[in-house]
Amino acid sequence: SQFEDAGLHPVMMENVKLARYTQPTPIQAYCLPAIFENRDIVACAQTGSGKTAAFLIPTLSKLMGKASKLCAARPIFKNRAEYDPKLHGVTAQPLVLIIAPTRELVIQIHQEALKFCYRSKLLPCVIYGGHPEEVQRNELRRGCDILISTPGRLCHFMMKPEVLSLARVRYTIIDEADEMLSEGFGEELHKIMHQGDRNADSDHVFMMFSATFPRAARELAVQHMANDYAFVR
Ligand code: AMP
Repeated sequence: SQFEDAGLHPVMMENVKLARYTQPTPIQAYCLPAIFENRDIVACAQTGSGKTAAFLIPTLSKLMGKASKLCAARPIFKNRAEYDPKLHGVTAQPLVLIIAPTRELVIQIHQEALKFCYRSKLLPCVIYGGHPEEVQRNELRRGCDILISTPGRLCHFMMKPEVLSLARVRYTIIDEADEMLSEGFGEELHKIMHQGDRNADSDHVFMMFSATFPRAARELAVQHMANDYAFVR
């Protein structure tokens, strides 16, 4: 299949087979090579198009090749009881940041991420508003390579640098951008896009998925993304 020809990491190829995905959807067929070439992506995508796997499969596959090195820095705790803030004053330093408008959506993306991270060292972590901050702080500290969050809760933790640092983020993915912009999260999104590893050699990749492209969504793309971004429909 086209998945087999895409040059995926063997662990990811196994996970794609376990998910019983045989053929990429059109948006996946577009995103697979684009992400492998470190191109920014602006895509017009509806729910049901397979957009979640379109950004997860290539991004996580790329990190799997580098995972042992990239994840070596952080300890992993099997359960919360093992975590002692006095002993392990650990700051979460995700490599991938995924922002989506609702709790339901971030939980759904987290479920997909768990499937695709199976038998790898990558740890996905989900946070959202309306849930005790203390619990989510401990989640973050247990190890967080892929952070999936709603915009408000993320900005809240961005103000707590001892809990969360976005300095190592190499992939920033904005899902359902139009929804978040119409809910008034424009300022937060711009702030989030300014974070992350911006070294010239780190190839920070930005991806934006949206069903519609009002002016505010186009501005977000124009201001933060490389000139050669692709627009997929
Ligand atoms: P999404 O558009 O990301 O919400 O995905 C819609 C649904 O399609 C989800 O339940 C996915 O698990 C499923 N899906 C995504 N990509 C594929 C694929 N290549 N083959 C079969 N099912 C898929």
